[in-house]
Amino acid sequence: MAGLYIHIPFCIKKCPYCDFVSFQNKSDLIDEYLNILHQELLIYKTRYNINFETLYIGGGTPSFLSEKQLEKLFFLIYSTIEREKLKEITIEINPGTINKNKALIITENTNRISIGMQSFNNKVLKILGRVHKNKENYTTFDLFKKSGINNINIDLMYGICGQKLKDVLDDIDKAVKLKPDHISFYLFTIHGKEFKNKKLPDDDIIADMYLNGVKRLKKNKFVHYEISNFALENKFCLHNLNYWNSGQYIGIGVSASSFYNNERFSNTSDIYDYMKSLKNNKLPVICREKISDEKKIKEYIMLKLRTKNGIDNKEFYQNFKFDFYLKYSNIIDKYTSDNFMKKSKKRIFLTEKGFLISNEIIKDFF
Ligand code: SF4
Repeated sequence: MAGLYIHIPFCIKKCPYCDFVSFQNKSDLIDEYLNILHQELLIYKTRYNINFETLYIGGGTPSFLSEKQLEKLFFLIYSTIEREKLKEITIEINPGTINKNKALIITENTNRISIGMQSFNNKVLKILGRVHKNKENYTTFDLFKKSGINNINIDLMYGICGQKLKDVLDDIDKAVKLKPDHISFYLFTIHGKEFKNKKLPDDDIIADMYLNGVKRLKKNKFVHYEISNFALENKFCLHNLNYWNSGQYIGIGVSASSFYNNERFSNTSDIYDYMKSLKNNKLPVICREKISDEKKIKEYIMLKLRTKNGIDNKEFYQNFKFDFYLKYSNIIDKYTSDNFMKKSKKRIFLTEKGFLISNEIIKDFF
């Protein structure tokens, strides 16, 4: 299977903490950008004729597109790839950019939405510089429920300047009450200079937020299937599971990355270069890397340890022809004795305590 990611890099306003390739005040480029995206998709279609099983439209803010532009986007996609073969079609929604007609167009053309609510607390939303308020979280969710989408993710963030443990748990309770199918619970990370002088919660408070948040979500029947992702049974995100299972994917759009035929490659982050390159019928790829066996092992360990199932020893052996447990016994013993990892005959995985220091643990393997 292969996944297709499409990047829509336009937003109403750039959030001060945001590190994604996204632009405000460039909406005059959208129509042309959609044509160029189509051209890029056609090149991949002709060159590889891939059967995609998942589609993820992210950004930026895909829901910032007008009704006409959304219709055009879906028309261009489905005139190029076979919709019937797609098991999952996700689009990211920013509350405050949606109306009834857009919700209908999106519902007709997708089967999963991901709403970037981040918090239900207006003070926190203001600190984040989001364009929406708590009220729009509810109206957006309601619009999609009514329009018939039955696979909805809510994005929440914790560890934001000024946030307290009770605020985080309150956000989770409010999200759970809406009965979504999936909740992504991410740690806030600072990228913008506007946050330079703001104080983040201390590390032990952040750890408390994560561990108590996980507990609260699990209590409400959400399966913790990846460090930051929780879903009702059978509602795991297939597109992301494909990434974590080292599956192949093609990313189109400015700054998008791909992994295909054992090669990793990325597009330019400069929107003008991106468009110019495709106008000349050239892929806008600026770096390519063949994945060596060593790197493949490294990525496999890194990605699998992010998931609840962790590493299956037999599967690892089948893929790489050596015993994971034997080769890494020192590291495994170190972390299992402190309850950061758990090991059974079949598999090894990080505990919730382990997820908190996952970067440190993963680094130890290399
Ligand atoms: S809406 Fe999302 S992509 Fe756009 S600036 Fe804010 S965080 Fe970044």
